Amino acid sequence: LDPEEFRRLGRQVVDWIADYRAGLGERPVRPAVEPGSVRAELDKPLPELPGELSGLLAELDRVVVPASTHWQHPRFFGFFPANASLHSLLGDMLSGGLGAQGMLWSTSPAATEVEQALLDALADELGLDPAFTFAGGGGGVIQDSASSAALVALLAALHRARPDWRERGVDGRERVYVTAETHSSLAKAVRVAGLGERALRVVDTDPTTLAMDPGALAADLAADVAAGLVPVLVCATVGTTGTGAVDPVRAVAAAVATTAPTAWLHVDAAWAGVAGLCPEHRHLLDGVELADSFCTDAHKWLLTAFDASLLWVREAHALPAALSITPEYLRDAASESARVVDYRDWQVPLGRRFRALKLWTVLHGMGLSGVREHLRGHVALAGELAGWVRDDPGFELAAEPSLALVCLRVATDRGPDADDAATRSVLERVNATGRALVTHTTVRGRYVLRVAIGSVGTRDGDVAELWELLRAEAGAVRG
Ligand code: PLP
Repeated sequence: LDPEEFRRLGRQVVDWIADYRAGLGERPVRPAVEPGSVRAELDKPLPELPGELSGLLAELDRVVVPASTHWQHPRFFGFFPANASLHSLLGDMLSGGLGAQGMLWSTSPAATEVEQALLDALADELGLDPAFTFAGGGGGVIQDSASSAALVALLAALHRARPDWRERGVDGRERVYVTAETHSSLAKAVRVAGLGERALRVVDTDPTTLAMDPGALAADLAADVAAGLVPVLVCATVGTTGTGAVDPVRAVAAAVATTAPTAWLHVDAAWAGVAGLCPEHRHLLDGVELADSFCTDAHKWLLTAFDASLLWVREAHALPAALSITPEYLRDAASESARVVDYRDWQVPLGRRFRALKLWTVLHGMGLSGVREHLRGHVALAGELAGWVRDDPGFELAAEPSLALVCLRVATDRGPDADDAATRSVLERVNATGRALVTHTTVRGRYVLRVAIGSVGTRDGDVAELWELLRAEAGAVRG
């Protein structure tokens, strides 16, 4: 494909994306397809001869789009959002266009330094402690996911807690502290790091807020230290996956400092952290300045297409100390000068894309004011929905709304088991309409419907439509 032909075909692709996005609201959010149906459509030999792009786009229309769950749909309220704003798609295209592989500073100085500069500036806008910036001795890196961020934080923590870990591996005394509300990626990190399930300590939460109980954490840490175990990492979450609960980071940090000062404090704010860009929500990050690492996903609520998870550490050498392995072919003068960052040492894979470009394109195209408006709009819509739930005796809030997340249940007057069944049925019926998509969790053992407001195109009318659907389906379930 020569550049002139690319120019012509690229326009077709951009037109296809623009048409797809413009028509999203009219599509069912979730497809009604049977497992295997897409593969059956593609069960033919790969083409021997070159084909026209228009033929492939026709296949997307015929096979792919009808079998897709439309995450960018204005009435996608499931899980947490995966914002893929059109701004970020432009940046993704530029990144692919440059095709740089930024494993070392020298393999693309720009890819490395744009990322460094952007993360320093964002740290500032989020109100993070200057210690998390390169200028302040720490630094930020874009990982593929919050799961990878947790894994590398754990590896850095292991290295700090057990300096012989790289040579000898783990010995079964290592412990990692989470709550029942912590994202499962922490349990996965513990497994991947080879610590075994016994390493995971589940600290009690406050029964009302579902936030980590710092007193319980202090007691668990003290008991483990007394028993000769090694507290490696404590994970505090700002915005849990289930209900958006916020662990008291400052008190958690104090518990760590007094009982197990070498343990690493990681703050997982995968969804909620970006709200710190709005001064009125910055209190959620109170105490983060005491943490060793802080992570928030640009690919959840910060308008940036997957994948872009932002991780900051307060000591720039911490990740390289744990992860760096240098075969001869990767040695170069710049690395040895110690004047550059080689991001390969800050992550598990060697190679890496120029992810910072898509984030930069978002921030440049929308400005911080546009980003704040995006976040505030969703929080306001969640407040409106929560008000409707409160005012309707047929529903109840299952937890206090957190930013743009509303957790609710159907109230039947026939007891909690009946409420569980009705809530589940309403969720299934709403999703079956295709007009909206919501997902669920359990809170204190009870079935709960989660409404996570955050799609790029979600407006007033979309949340109102969901509320009407919920009421209508709850009416039908009650009979
Ligand atoms: N942490 C929290 C609090 C989450 O809610 C999620 C996903 O929803 C994750 C981590 C994992 O995110 P990722 O897909 O970036 O690994």
